[in-house]
Amino acid sequence: MGGKVALVYSDKYLEYFFGPEHPLRPQRLTLMMELIREIGLLDHPDLRVVEAMAASEEELKLVHSEAYLQHVKRLDEEGRGYLDYGDTPAFKGMFSASAMLVGGSLRAAELVMEGEAMHAFNPGGGMHHAARDRGAGFCVFNDVAITARYLQKKYNLKKIMIVDIDCHHGDGTQETFYSDPSVLTVSFHEDGRFLYPGTGFINEVGEREGKGYCVNVPLPPFTFTEAYLYAYNEVVPPLVKSYEPDIIIQQCGVDTHFGDPLTTEALTLDCYEKIIEILHNLVHEATDGKLILLGGGGYEVGCVAKAWTLMICKLLGVKPPEHTPPTWRELYARTALELGDAPRDPDAMYEREKPPLTYEKERVLEIVKETVKKLKETISKYAPLF
Ligand SMILES: [Zn+2]
Ligand SMILES: [Zn+2]
Repeated sequence: MGGKVALVYSDKYLEYFFGPEHPLRPQRLTLMMELIREIGLLDHPDLRVVEAMAASEEELKLVHSEAYLQHVKRLDEEGRGYLDYGDTPAFKGMFSASAMLVGGSLRAAELVMEGEAMHAFNPGGGMHHAARDRGAGFCVFNDVAITARYLQKKYNLKKIMIVDIDCHHGDGTQETFYSDPSVLTVSFHEDGRFLYPGTGFINEVGEREGKGYCVNVPLPPFTFTEAYLYAYNEVVPPLVKSYEPDIIIQQCGVDTHFGDPLTTEALTLDCYEKIIEILHNLVHEATDGKLILLGGGGYEVGCVAKAWTLMICKLLGVKPPEHTPPTWRELYARTALELGDAPRDPDAMYEREKPPLTYEKERVLEIVKETVKKLKETISKYAPLF
């Protein structure tokens, strides 16, 4: 089960930078590119790196309002202030840097739709909190939603499925398609009672014609790999079978990792591999392989680099090495120190350290099972999906 994989990237992604004190660090991207290079993936015959180009204003307007674009431009010129209540600071060059991330996701969509790649990954994308008239939660333009609208407009796709595995609820994406059954949104995230943005409950199911086509899986804090995979397996494969999407877009935030400084989930790196394994099998069965992966959250730079590298390995069918290459581990250690962090397991591709068990596993699994059961009952009232 092969198929060519495109990795859409640009050094200009690094200009998406909210300042040295901000938790979203561009170094996670440079560390990822360096890791895939050093383990030899750039020489793999099925992997192609494609340069991203900025999205046009017309493309941004597939989701955002003209007034919001003007607002972003004004703040960009001033180079100070915030797009929201304090998480997303404005900076000079913000408009073009944000348009570049969106352009990468649109390029990924084109490569897949035009048969140049079977699967495409834009690690610069995944900005799921932005919505029509607002930026929020480190996100200026919502490339996830824009990509879905672009696929509808340019390729006339009738059914698009968006899966969002970021630790935070994909609220901007949900809002964009809340009354639209032609885009099924599914978000797995830490329960909104404990984490930003405080939404994504089971009873948020969509409205009007879209009712039942918005699926939320709020997870308790300390959800661990096995419990997470239980939920993913119970929800995603049945939805793919019943909804029969033309393509799947997955936002791949990895801030669910137990070492992430902003959240309290407890996933290990192998969980991301297993998620991709499940999804990869599904797309080859259901969408002729059409799969777009986007980046997302992840605030421990080495962990993000490893997680996304492991995902690419899985798509390519490459067995990752057990140890990171020595030059990479030095780069990671140096980068982490510069950022004021301690590097985590720099020499291991997976973690040596185990997630802390601050909560009883049995209880977490029980809550996850109850949540899945309840959400299936809730969705079934409105749409024939489960
Ligand atoms: Zn494949
Ligand atoms: Zn997140």
